[in-house]
Amino acid sequence: MSSKTFKIAALAGDGIGPEVMREAIKVLRVTEKKFGFTLQITEAPVGWAGIDAAGKALPDATLALCKHSDSILFGSVGLPDRDPTIPKEERPERAALLRLRKEFGLFANLRPVSLPKVLSHACPLAKERQGDGIDILVVRELTGGMYFGQPKKTEDIGGGNQRAIDTMVYTTPEIERIAHVAFKSALLRRKKLTSIDKANVLENGILWREVVTRVSKNYPDVTLEHMFVDNGAMQLMLRPTQFDVMLCENMFGDILSDEAAALGGSLGMLPSASLGATSEGNTFGFYEPAGGTAPDIAGKNLANPIAQILSSALMLRHSFGLNDAAAAIEAAVTKAINAGNRTGDIFSASESGAKRVGTQEMGDAIVAGM
Ligand code: NAD
Repeated sequence: MSSKTFKIAALAGDGIGPEVMREAIKVLRVTEKKFGFTLQITEAPVGWAGIDAAGKALPDATLALCKHSDSILFGSVGLPDRDPTIPKEERPERAALLRLRKEFGLFANLRPVSLPKVLSHACPLAKERQGDGIDILVVRELTGGMYFGQPKKTEDIGGGNQRAIDTMVYTTPEIERIAHVAFKSALLRRKKLTSIDKANVLENGILWREVVTRVSKNYPDVTLEHMFVDNGAMQLMLRPTQFDVMLCENMFGDILSDEAAALGGSLGMLPSASLGATSEGNTFGFYEPAGGTAPDIAGKNLANPIAQILSSALMLRHSFGLNDAAAAIEAAVTKAINAGNRTGDIFSASESGAKRVGTQEMGDAIVAGM
């Protein structure tokens, strides 16, 4: 693995995208030297940057680059001032972001939420509920369930009334493939998996539970538990430290991943990965921060680059199998935080020893800790 070359399409996008992408690439270059692999990183415009450069939110050359890459490291796209000036289907989030997600068949969304103990002030939960720090990975199925099931329609039923129909559908292979992603992720963590369902009410929940239980036989080192989604939502608030990996179908994952994200203190701290199919040992992935383009702070060296930097660590781990390099980035982020470096979003004047830093300084502190 050490002599391997990995091709990365780096699409910074709009707003704070270019600033935080610069820091992520800086950190990736250090891992390259330290661990002896080659990252062929090619930058290309997307979003408003794509429209300004080539007339389209996803220029043809950018899409072609993505198709020839092993993974996409994405910033964020969209500018609230400019978006309303063009038709909906041409706007960056739809024309670039959703298009890319569809194009690459991304079926697994990974959202880690990690709240280091020193940032307890940034978490909305009381300190005693945070234990030694919150560290959860939500694995969400992205292509099935109620959001895509057919029939999906609104019909007239007479008397001026309508009926809206959404259909929740999952097949055994769809559940199996997302379960494998979740169990493999658990093996790299604390080896506990909580599978979320509504097996007391939904047929889908019963099948989900059966299939996940069957898949678990391949992973004897991982402890599996099942939890109803309503209880899962409550437990996240009451005792979030009980969770390691939470495996969810699409809609439950949409809701619970945002609930879990709130525990992380700031959007600037939250990375994400969306994974597609694996071929020749590589898993194609799309890696992006959970937040948007943050126009309120863009171009001012104020953005927190950690979400983008941790997204690049997820890429090394999940797409390229470079677990040591990924862990080195994560450890350096923890070190920079423990040393008191704080961008504005995680700064609290009452925290002793905290030092307010800019985007670049946070990147430098992380590089220094590698
Ligand atoms: P946002 O996530 O951009 O910002 C919400 C708040 O979080 C802001 O106060 C912002 O300053 C803060 N924030 C976000 N990331 C931060 C970081 N790294 N460091 C420090 N603070 C950070 O959401 P919004 O304001 O609703 O959306 C702005 C634009 O981004 C819109 O055009 C929206 O469509 C787009 N957007 C894009 C994506 C994406 O590309 N995946 C996701 C969400 C929103």
